[in-house]
Amino acid sequence: MASNFENVAYTVGWICADHMGFATARAMLDAQHGRPQTQHGLDDNTYTLGRIGPHNVVITCLSLGGRGTVGAALAASRLISSFPIIRFGLLVGTGGGIPTDEYDIRLGDVAVSAPNQTFGGVVQIDFGKATPRGFERTGSLNKPPRALMTAIQDVRANHFMGNSQTSRYLNELCAANTITADAYTYPGVQNDKFFSPDSLHQDPSRKSCTKCTGIKRRSRRKDTAPVIHYGTIASGNKIIRTA
Ligand SMILES: [Zn+2]
Repeated sequence: MASNFENVAYTVGWICADHMGFATARAMLDAQHGRPQTQHGLDDNTYTLGRIGPHNVVITCLSLGGRGTVGAALAASRLISSFPIIRFGLLVGTGGGIPTDEYDIRLGDVAVSAPNQTFGGVVQIDFGKATPRGFERTGSLNKPPRALMTAIQDVRANHFMGNSQTSRYLNELCAANTITADAYTYPGVQNDKFFSPDSLHQDPSRKSCTKCTGIKRRSRRKDTAPVIHYGTIASGNKIIRTA
């Protein structure tokens, strides 16, 4: 279905890292607007258009096999060329959490990039130079636009007052049957194992960690609702698959 909306109606771009994220993003739309008109040969992204609350949103996904910073930059630049009044882009995907004393991050939690005195919110961890002393990370990325930084304060205030809508949206997502509920249901604390950084995965031929040791004990949370963390996100071309 072609969209009845002009491309200039869309102010928010949402880029997904994989098909699971693409499905979730589409399921979050309050209304679907169909597919846009794009210039053949110039823009090879595939889009879904729709509305979330008062915002018209254009969603696209990194190509199969096109992950990493180059794939993300391609998707973003084509999106901006076809939708000229995009105010900001969101890159949403699945990541690994690194718990610290400050951030008790667990399976299913959400991490939102937020600038601090040193970093703009996202750090490309594999961008830098090789030196005799080892790898040195260099460079930095811009901060998100101020409109997002002020909107985040509103969201945080709502959460602080106990008005988080996260659980409601998750329940609606699973009840709507538009996606497999199992894929978005909390898999249980028994599947959220936190290994110490010096722990090695014992059975490389299998994903299972039944033979692995070095699990750190953590206190139980009062419920399984996802917690939202705000801090620095590490991004890059390498998937980190080591404790
Ligand atoms: Zn393991």
